[in-house]
Amino acid sequence: GEVPTRPLLHPRWVRINALRTTLETQLETTFADYSHVDSLALLEASSSRKVLHIDRHVPDLLALPPGADLANTAAYLQGDIIFQDKASCFPAYLLDPSLEDGEFIDACAAPGNKTTHLASLLSKRQRANGVLTKNPSIWAFERDKSRALILKRMVETAGANHMVTVKPEQDSLRVDPESEAWRGVGALLLDPSCSGSGMVGRDEMPRLVLPSRGTEKQAKTSNKKKRRREPAQEPKNTKSSIVQSPQDEEESLSGNLSQRLSSLSAFQLKLLLHAFRFKSARKVVYSTCSIHAEENEHVVVRALNSDIAKRRRWRVLRREEQVPGLRGWGIRGALGACEGLEGGHGGATEVVADACLKCSKGGKEGTMGFFVVGFVRDSVVDGDSD
Ligand code: SAM
Repeated sequence: GEVPTRPLLHPRWVRINALRTTLETQLETTFADYSHVDSLALLEASSSRKVLHIDRHVPDLLALPPGADLANTAAYLQGDIIFQDKASCFPAYLLDPSLEDGEFIDACAAPGNKTTHLASLLSKRQRANGVLTKNPSIWAFERDKSRALILKRMVETAGANHMVTVKPEQDSLRVDPESEAWRGVGALLLDPSCSGSGMVGRDEMPRLVLPSRGTEKQAKTSNKKKRRREPAQEPKNTKSSIVQSPQDEEESLSGNLSQRLSSLSAFQLKLLLHAFRFKSARKVVYSTCSIHAEENEHVVVRALNSDIAKRRRWRVLRREEQVPGLRGWGIRGALGACEGLEGGHGGATEVVADACLKCSKGGKEGTMGFFVVGFVRDSVVDGDSD
């Protein structure tokens, strides 16, 4: 058929799961007959389907042509590789988990892309250390019962059972952050339900480069396991439980967009402030797959202006403190959207905006629309007596 406009590239992003394999091994096996190109533009220009690009921001991440059909490969079925949008790999990487961080909480965990990425990063740390350390603990909270089942399966497939404890039907907000039980928690991932406006395939998105008809059919009839594990990359049915869909509860509040965004944003802020209350926590990463400032920069500003942030001395993880691969990432928070900062300990507007990482939906980086920011505090002593 005729192609009216040149579709923008949205590659098939493939994360190599360090719990089961290594990038080197995968390049020598699953991708042995693939040629390597230096950029997404070259990937797009290539007429071959067996071509890949090793991402330059996120370690262990590959970009393949959009139609790449890997769902039947052994590597996929046994959890060596995971389909995960590049943007969705930012949070765990930005958290920069170390074996010294203590325990981790993923407060909004299903279907488990970020939980398993976190586990994968920690297993690399363990391997690099060379010594047998105690396995890190990751608590994965998920309030939705059926999504928690999907999460459990994903953790199993990824080989992360020894690190991850799934807490099904656990509302994170009902966990008491001050309790002794969570005293070991040093870092949290927070990827709450959001409007999903950054998801590729939603509303006004540019056309995707679709796989050939044959592959499309195959994809449709492929087993449930595949659908389950598919992240929010090319959602056909955005209501499906497998994608990062907005929570129905929030959805039902809908009405007009601005009403909906303000209720989502209030919920997101609540979760973030709750995370700030964990007594030993020193790192929190907040993310959404939204392109709306209400769910992104505005939440950051309100969080920094909060009493709890001031008392506990939470501030943003500044650009120069970010992991090497993301420090150079160019798309940052909007200055205008960060207005209203009270400054002081939380940081100046420029610093805060520059600490926020954004991904454009349908842009030349080939990602979904996304937002991520890290919060840190330098000591857990200050303000902890409250
Ligand atoms: N982090 C996941 C991943 O990368 O695969 C995607 C998370 S999705 C955007 C948000 C999830 O948080 C949904 O599964 C939702 O049910 C869950 N959730 C929302 N509010 C929650 C709460 N208060 N406690 C626990 N889970 C919650």
